[in-house]
Amino acid sequence: MRIGHGYDVHRFCEGDHVMLGGVRIEHAEGLAAHSDGDVVLHALCDALLGAIGAGDIGRHFPDDDPAWAGADSRDLLRRVVTQVQAAGFILGNADLTVVAQAPRLAAHIGTMVERIAADCGVDPGAVNVKATTTEGLGFCGRREGIAAHAVVLLLPAGP
Ligand code: MG
Repeated sequence: MRIGHGYDVHRFCEGDHVMLGGVRIEHAEGLAAHSDGDVVLHALCDALLGAIGAGDIGRHFPDDDPAWAGADSRDLLRRVVTQVQAAGFILGNADLTVVAQAPRLAAHIGTMVERIAADCGVDPGAVNVKATTTEGLGFCGRREGIAAHAVVLLLPAGP
């Protein structure tokens, strides 16, 4: 078995929606990024890459490479999952935490789980997404940005 951890942050900027866990959520601001700024999927990609000892998302999809400008993070995730499979592993389970004072995420969690599970090729029961505020404390609490944590367990792929 292999374990991996990922963490990502993007700051708010002008905009009218955020992408979180592969879901478009209307919001008074956007998230500044070279890609679509999906911190949840970026943290998950980093956890998966970490678990197979393959560095991080910045190494595979550099933010100074025009090829990844405005990238759909679900596409990045599927590419990372392909690498996980090539390394001989499958996702056992993923546990993800989104840290955001706003927007409210409860209504979107189920769709995030469905999309992440589909992109990882696993049952939705293997993916858990939860959201927390920071009670107004710190950069997330001041609504300066959104953070996400990811932990994954990889299992050897069957013969
Ligand atoms: Mg990122």
